[in-house]
Amino acid sequence: MHDSVHVRFAPSPTGYLHVGGLRTALYNYLFARKHNGKFVLRIEDTDRARYVEGATEKLIEALHWAGIDYDEGPYFQSQRLEIYKQHVEKLLHEGKAYRCFCTSERLEQMRNEMETKKVDVKYDRTCLKLSEKEIQETIDKKIPHVVRMKIPENRTIKFHDIVRGDVEFQSKIIDDQVLLKSDGFPTYHLAVVVDDYLMNITHVIRGEEWLSSVPKHLLLYEYFGWQVPQMAHLPLLLNPDKSKLSKRQGDVAVEDYRDKGYLKEALVNFVALLGWNPGTEQEYFSLQELIEQFSLERVHKSGAVFNVDKLNSLNFQHLRKKTDEEVLHMLKEELLKSKFADKNFSEEYLLQVLTAMRERMTFVKDVIENASYFFESPTQYEENSVKKNWKEETPSQMKLLTEEFSKLVHPKKEDYETALHKTAQQLQIGNGKLIHGTRLAISGVSAGPGLYDILFILGRDESVNRMRMAIETIR
Ligand code: GLU
Repeated sequence: MHDSVHVRFAPSPTGYLHVGGLRTALYNYLFARKHNGKFVLRIEDTDRARYVEGATEKLIEALHWAGIDYDEGPYFQSQRLEIYKQHVEKLLHEGKAYRCFCTSERLEQMRNEMETKKVDVKYDRTCLKLSEKEIQETIDKKIPHVVRMKIPENRTIKFHDIVRGDVEFQSKIIDDQVLLKSDGFPTYHLAVVVDDYLMNITHVIRGEEWLSSVPKHLLLYEYFGWQVPQMAHLPLLLNPDKSKLSKRQGDVAVEDYRDKGYLKEALVNFVALLGWNPGTEQEYFSLQELIEQFSLERVHKSGAVFNVDKLNSLNFQHLRKKTDEEVLHMLKEELLKSKFADKNFSEEYLLQVLTAMRERMTFVKDVIENASYFFESPTQYEENSVKKNWKEETPSQMKLLTEEFSKLVHPKKEDYETALHKTAQQLQIGNGKLIHGTRLAISGVSAGPGLYDILFILGRDESVNRMRMAIETIR
């Protein structure tokens, strides 16, 4: 009988969720959902030296934020030490692994000598020659030791990777890998194989950096007599200059993108396309569409470039799909984080602002950053625009327009327009002159939604006050 699909995301807790980790988690999640399988979360925390307080919580929180939920776990490898130990005992018993008592000093010396002689650096198997008796005596003396895996000398190890195709390794380049460390913790290689087997993992989907570990894993599967899961190694993530994606060139933590105001839908959509495409031109995907269309067969081998412009454009598109209520809620949150936190704007007012700004924002906070005039009168006037649109005659023209506006009763958008046209005619100037001047006066900047929209949203009194203020201030 064919086992139902089980996949896993198996991060080592480093303190944050890397966008590459998000992609691995996402692909596993999509694959599980598509095949009605199970998605397991396993925390690979066996490297005590790299233990980071609170890292697991952060990781789970980031996954949760992204909307990637798991069906099983989290399992913690640090809580499964007895299981790994039992499995190592079995290998020891069957002569497929051996104890090694070499001190780190001795290994260091050995490595140095090998490097000088220019031979492949591999454990020289000194401890493989120990007799049963010597081993027991050394154990009795409580001398710390590790357990190493016995790698066969001349074997070609082959496997088929769903992404990379047929892959081949020569066993002679493989070191007698440590499986169990002297502190009783397993190494990654032992723990990953034992757990993938015990957790019924049918497909191992992970980053390409783990490909070189596969031959050791395959040998372990063989030693234990277990069936090997299918494998898919995902392409590297690259900076635009094709170097490996690194912290130095930009943000790599999911949390950073969240805090910058990216929508989870956009980040997930973007990350899905880092290594996969549907074979069509489609770039905008909801999570549901991704589940329907994702397939490992369409994951490519070549490195995937992390292009922030594309992420921004997806954020813009996903933001447009949000309802007014959703965006209103987000805007309120952003306002609370801004210098306008103490001001009280009615929902009705904010909704009007959003309607005017919907097509102009990549992030909700753009409304506050690029259109602060909706929340306070201009504190300064854009220099270039002043030069271009505020001439000597402008103040007197503006005065006339201000008087015209003041006479309006509950004006609608169109009423401002009519009043402006009338004034332009009176002055025998083009509408444009008044439009640019007014825009500068009420907003302080030269770009934004339509002038009459801004006037209407600000209201007659506020607009008139700002125009008067500009007449007095702009020089
Ligand atoms: N613990 C490894 C990591 O941190 C997981 C590798 C694997 O998926 O086998 O990415």
